[in-house]
Amino acid sequence: MLKAVIFDIDGTLYDYDSANEASMKVLAAYASEQLGWEPGRFQEESRRMMRRLHEKMGDVAACHNRLIRYQNILEEYGMPLHPHAMKLYEMYWETLMDAAEPSPGAEETMRELKKRGIRIGVGTDMTAWVQFRKLERLGLLGYVDFIVTSEEAGAEKPDRKLFSLCAEKAKASPEECLFVGDSFRKDYCGALEAGMKALWFVPPGKQTALDTPEKENAADTPEKAAAERIASLSEILERL
Ligand SMILES: [Mg+2]
Repeated sequence: MLKAVIFDIDGTLYDYDSANEASMKVLAAYASEQLGWEPGRFQEESRRMMRRLHEKMGDVAACHNRLIRYQNILEEYGMPLHPHAMKLYEMYWETLMDAAEPSPGAEETMRELKKRGIRIGVGTDMTAWVQFRKLERLGLLGYVDFIVTSEEAGAEKPDRKLFSLCAEKAKASPEECLFVGDSFRKDYCGALEAGMKALWFVPPGKQTALDTPEKENAADTPEKAAAERIASLSEILERL
């Protein structure tokens, strides 16, 4: 019997790509005005620093911390940390949270799951404070029974540790949990590997080619992944 549905946040409960794009535009304008950087440079530096920090720090929640990312860019170019580091960080999140709209059907699906006595969880690669704020701004935090961030789990998806902690908090065995997320490798395959049921969320306009499942992966056939692919969160209710 299904006891919990666990959601990824970014790209699942809201469209991360468009919200992130809105934020990066605001930051590029700030960098142009305050640091004299030509258009496009801030985003490029930001990507480069993200990769560098990821290599240095490994798969940990802190590598998503944009304050550390922006701080390191400024330090590298000998630019003043104050006020730029905090300003860039705060502008990024304020803009993203203003731009983020819940994915169609998110709230209705959560409401219906509650009605059916199914616990609602969140399993996400990120730091807790930012993810709580996102859920609050999306108007979904009130539906959520438990949250596992990679900051708390000490590991990022698809590491089994994060999924095990989700099941533990759901007071359920992994097979009594359904995980829903937009990343084929991290969410869908990660959840299957951990013994959970999984749905791969690919909303319209984000039709990615079906990644070739890796060998010895629990999603061992493209047919299985295609069958467990949904285009709208409301489809979850039909699949229970
Ligand atoms: Mg995601």
